[in-house]
Amino acid sequence: MTDSGCIFCEIISDKAEASIVFQDDFVTAFMDAFPVNPGHTLVVPNQHSPDLAGLDELHAGKMIQLARKLAGALRASSLRCEGVNLLLADGPVAGQTVFHVHLHVIPRFIGDPCGIRLHTEPPAAPAREQLDAHAAAIKRALDA
Ligand code: 5GP
Ligand code: ZN
Repeated sequence: MTDSGCIFCEIISDKAEASIVFQDDFVTAFMDAFPVNPGHTLVVPNQHSPDLAGLDELHAGKMIQLARKLAGALRASSLRCEGVNLLLADGPVAGQTVFHVHLHVIPRFIGDPCGIRLHTEPPAAPAREQLDAHAAAIKRALDA
């Protein structure tokens, strides 16, 4: 299933230009056009889904499997890679700008210009009761 007007669907079906690293029946990996660091790769399911919720388990699994292999390949490559971030932005508030689900594989090295960080303030540890309540809320939704 493809979506007309989706740039990643166009790349997957070779209607738009991209530097492809890997493609099989399930997933495609290509270079991000605006890389954070050299080697920044995107892994996308060949099936169009704007978000994670719409992605089936097979394609989701293939996506993470390929990202894992690419992380190893980046480390073994001639590109500078001392660590790797995997990043998936699910929804605009999470920073998603292209609405065909994709996993970023970003090579990292000391002193690089990448600004990924989880905390913008010094981290505070919530009380155990609060963490338990959050875990329970997610468990209820998982079991529903
Ligand atoms: P997001 O912000 O949705 O997590 O990531 C979208 C990514 O797609 C960005 O890192 C952006 O640089 C990349 N991107 C946007 N348009 C194109 C394009 O036409 N070709 C390629 N290869 N990457 C793109
Ligand atoms: Zn698409």
